[in-house]
Order: sequence, then C-alpha cells, then structure tokens
Amino acid sequence: MKEQVMLTGVRPSGNITLGNYLGAIKNFVTRQSLYKSYIFVADLHAITSPRDPEELRHAIEDCMAMYLACGVDPKQTVMFRQSDVLEHGVLGFIMTFQTHMGELSRMTQFKLKSQSSAKNGIDTGLFVYPPLMAADILLYHTNMVPVGLDQQQHVELTRDLAQRFNNRYGKTFTEPDVYIAPVGNKILNLQNPAEKMNKSDGQNLGTIFLMDDLKLVRRKIMSAVTDSETVVRFDEVAKPGISNLISILSAITGECIPSIENRFAGHGYGDFKRAVADVVCDLLEKIQANYRRFKNSELLDDILNNGAGQARLIASETLNRTKRVLGLR
Ligand code: AMP
Repeated sequence: MKEQVMLTGVRPSGNITLGNYLGAIKNFVTRQSLYKSYIFVADLHAITSPRDPEELRHAIEDCMAMYLACGVDPKQTVMFRQSDVLEHGVLGFIMTFQTHMGELSRMTQFKLKSQSSAKNGIDTGLFVYPPLMAADILLYHTNMVPVGLDQQQHVELTRDLAQRFNNRYGKTFTEPDVYIAPVGNKILNLQNPAEKMNKSDGQNLGTIFLMDDLKLVRRKIMSAVTDSETVVRFDEVAKPGISNLISILSAITGECIPSIENRFAGHGYGDFKRAVADVVCDLLEKIQANYRRFKNSELLDDILNNGAGQARLIASETLNRTKRVLGLR
C-alpha cells in the first residue's frame, strides 16, 4: 500500500510545450510508481479567461492523450478531468474565503499576467485561481506536487492555507510539499530568454510544442538566441540562451551540466545546437507516435470515467469532513 500521494495538472489552454513536459509531466511520470498518483486536466483553470467551447473540448481530450503519450500509466495513476469532480469547485469556493486579498495580490503570476491583460480589464479568475489550485491539491491529501518554478509560490500558498485552516478548525488537510526539478524547472523562450517558454507565444519560434513538426523543432533550436561568445558554458545571467539549451539537454538525457560543458569544449554553437535538436527531436518523435495511438482511442473515455469515479471517492470524503468541521453539516 503506497502511503504518500503525488498530484499534478496542466491547463488545457493551447498545446503542451516542452516546458510543461520538462517542468512537470516528466517528473510525475518518473515517480508515478512510488506514490498513490493523481494527474488531472485542469479544465476549470482554463476558463479563467473566455474560451471557444469547441476548441476547449478538443484541448481537454488532447491534454489527456498527451499525458498518456508522455508515459502516464493509467494502471498506476488516477487520471481525470477536474470538472468531472464537482468537489473541486466547492472546496475552491471555501478556500477562497480562507485567503487574504494581500496574499493573492502578491502572487507573481497574477502580477505578470494582469499587467499584460490590463487593457481589456483583469479577469477575476486570474486573481482567485490559486485557492482553487489549493483545493485541487488538498482534496487528495497530497504530499508532493511536481511543478515548474512558476507554480512554486502557489503550492507554498496552499501549504499556508492548509496550516491556517488546520489551526482554526483542527487537523483537516495534509500540508503538501512542492517538487521542483533541479534542472528544467524553468525552460525559457528560445527567442527571448528573458521570459519563460509559454503556450501563448506560439506565433514565433520561441516555444516548442510537443506536437510540432520535427523540421520546425530543428529550425526553432537552430535559430535560438545565444550570445557573442563561442563557449558552451552554463551561466544563467551572462548566457541565458546557451544555459537554457544546456538545461534542455540535461533535463532530457540526465547528463549533468559540467559533463555537457566538457563534451562541447572547443565546439561552436552550431554543433551544440545540432546535438540539442537531435535529442529533442528523438524525444518528440516517440511522444508523437504514442499520441497518434491514444488520440481518438475509445480507451480515453474509459480511463477518464474510471479516474473520475476514483477521484470522487476521496474528494467527497475530504469535502464532507471539511463541511463538518466548518459546521455546514
Ligand atoms: P500550465 O501550462 O500553466 O498549466 O502549467 C503546467 C505545468 O507546467 C506547471 O507545473 C508549470 O509550472 C509547468 N510549466 C509551464 N511552463 C513551464 C516552463 N517554461 N518551464 C518549466 N515548467 C513549466
């Protein structure tokens, strides 16, 4: 019987990127056999801004097929759609009331994204999604949440909220730990290494999507912004572009950074980029072949229905206990 619980999720908002894979999915897949594991499609988080319904339906299916293609194993992991388990919404509502305005205004993601959407008005969803994320995690007594660096603050807020609630009402929630991979936790935009690789930057050559044509992937890597030196050396401040490519190579192959630096001593950036492109294309070729097997497979519905059933069992127990301690039942 596995005692410890691991959980993660990805928003079905645009196609999954190499950043999502290296920051969250890969770390989940390599540990799924060690934990009682849950992975969900964070579809309620996808509607924090208006979406075309048909496009969203496809994105949700795609996200689930992509989890399977990346190696999530439904025999070891409970896979489900967040919106199939209504307890997420109710506990999200309750956790919102445990949260201070100041805590939400301090969230870096809110500050960054509200700046870029300020012209059209800032969606409330952008402000209040961290307590929903807390509910996603707390419903399953999660011990460990593998996420990229951008989500670390939200998992830490979840810990604070769990602690606050437990202090007020008695031990109800498990306080989760965040797992940030030592390498690959913040993959940067290949064209603008001052920014992280984002799903929404799909129009230029800066973001690699897992379903990109392999020729395009190669082109994106070969045209990645570097620096005026010719030395393959890891230095995130002085050489963010090259350091980003080193991180990608290291996160995929497991080769440590000093070994990569040694291997490419005396080589130009062209050789190095070709080696990175080879490794990324190899990885994506396998994922894409798997994806074609799972996409449109009838298995997908069975996995989701079964997963939602299993998730509901635990989620409803946690929500009932929460309501009881609050005096709602
Ligand atoms: P999202 O696409 O915002 O739902 O993110 C899903 C997961 O991918 C979260 O754990 C993020 O922290 C992670 N993630 C997103 N972008 C990156 C990136 N550029 N580098 C590393 N991890 C990322």
